[in-house]
Amino acid sequence: ATSIVWLRRDLRLTDQPAFRAAAREGTVVPVFVLDDETPGDRKLGGASRWWLHRSLESLAADLEEKGSKLILRQGRVDHVIPQLCEELGATRVHGVHHYEPWWKEAEDRIADQVEICLHDGNYLEPPGAVTTGSGDPYKIFTPFWKALKERMPPSEISPRPSSLDAPDNWPESEKLDEWDLLPTNPNWAGAMEEEWEPGEAGAVKRLEAFQDDASHYEGQRNCPSVEGTSKLSPHLHWGEISPARVYNRVKDSGGSVGTFLSELGWRDYGQNVIDQFPDYADKPYRDGWDKFEWRDFRSSTVRDEFDAWKKGKTGYPIVDAGMRQLWAIGWVHNRVRMIVASFLIKHLLIDWREGEQWFWDTLVDADYGSNGTNWQWVAGTGVDSNMFVRIMAPLSQSEKFDAADYIRQWVPELADLSDADIHDPPADKRPDDYPEKIIEHKAARERALEAYRAMKG
Ligand code: FAD
Repeated sequence: ATSIVWLRRDLRLTDQPAFRAAAREGTVVPVFVLDDETPGDRKLGGASRWWLHRSLESLAADLEEKGSKLILRQGRVDHVIPQLCEELGATRVHGVHHYEPWWKEAEDRIADQVEICLHDGNYLEPPGAVTTGSGDPYKIFTPFWKALKERMPPSEISPRPSSLDAPDNWPESEKLDEWDLLPTNPNWAGAMEEEWEPGEAGAVKRLEAFQDDASHYEGQRNCPSVEGTSKLSPHLHWGEISPARVYNRVKDSGGSVGTFLSELGWRDYGQNVIDQFPDYADKPYRDGWDKFEWRDFRSSTVRDEFDAWKKGKTGYPIVDAGMRQLWAIGWVHNRVRMIVASFLIKHLLIDWREGEQWFWDTLVDADYGSNGTNWQWVAGTGVDSNMFVRIMAPLSQSEKFDAADYIRQWVPELADLSDADIHDPPADKRPDDYPEKIIEHKAARERALEAYRAMKG
């Protein structure tokens, strides 16, 4: 029998249950469909497209080594996949479960036409599997993680298939280069090419490099000036490595590895939330927030300030460093993601959904579940505690988490300032080419609290 492996964010061979199942059944045709229609306004952002191109290149090479081939097609998956089944006389489609609402709907539409087997493997446990005593899914992280942890460690990972049987005739494939996933004019991906190695081999290298640091995670993870975190997020997002593999590799590292493992738990948690609340990344969860008076984009001042945030020109060095890191490499340190998000929402009083969208376009790990849950968490509009009134002070955060070298790296015009001055450059030391603060912290704080009180009536 011939089966199709329908690939999405599961671009690996090791511990990839769809490949495993298909390989057992006979001939395997791996297919990636570039579908910009099904996700609606959640089509892949620019940074994601760059990553995807490189990751597909890597997977295609890995498949070739196994005597197989990656078939590329463009169009609506619920048309392309059944069509391809017919073309090949394939009896079954294997895939890995995805929980973005548009994928769940597409899976159903495909299942109406051909036999499709979806496997678990992109999360420690599939969303909905870990439930409260009364059988409901969890809404809050802490009890969710406590229950998930009891089911850990995950089972041992399964090796890559030793070979993949090829069909007598391969179906036609489109050419990756013709998909225009890479930026051209201008090519903004230079620093990304240097920073990342998309694909399974790159993911394994990151994991191995991090493995020695896993036990010191707690002490380092909040300091953006050191590489204290794994930088596995884009690899995990694209499914180039399974979370079970990461978990099992580091679990016995000792020290504070437990904190790191709980971050993998946060990743699972985000999927659990979107599985329960499919429009979570697009709509505040808590009541009342539709009445909140975010500043109005019809005002050019607001648009200019949003632009200054995006470009890293707010006059707050830690915020600017983060936003420039995002633009350069498509990734930002977690502590700094919290600071820049809080700054947009509370200091600039701009709707968190604008920030979520910008991250969606610019992050290489842009993930519907993780991005949505984290933005709502910072905003205080989500299922967990209401954090709106906890307004982060960017300047003290910068000092507390020792961001001086991080700022030097990403805001080079401040590089000569001392550790004492760099977090909040005094007027007489502020270089001419570095902007003044677009708003004072105290005034911003008061404005935000006032808007919050107004909403609460
Ligand atoms: P590590 O610290 O090494 O953690 C290991 C893994 O755990 C990560 O690779 C990631 O898969 C997962 N993880 C860690 N922290 C979180 C978290 N808070 N929520 C969910 N998963 C987590 N992460 C994304 O993967 N995609 C996003 O689109 C995304 N958007 C975010 C938006 C905001 C406003 C904030 C505050 C955080 C966001 N995060 C997102 C979470 C987090 O910042 C990144 O996962 C983390 O910085 C990735 O770096 P790392 O791989 O070195 O993480």
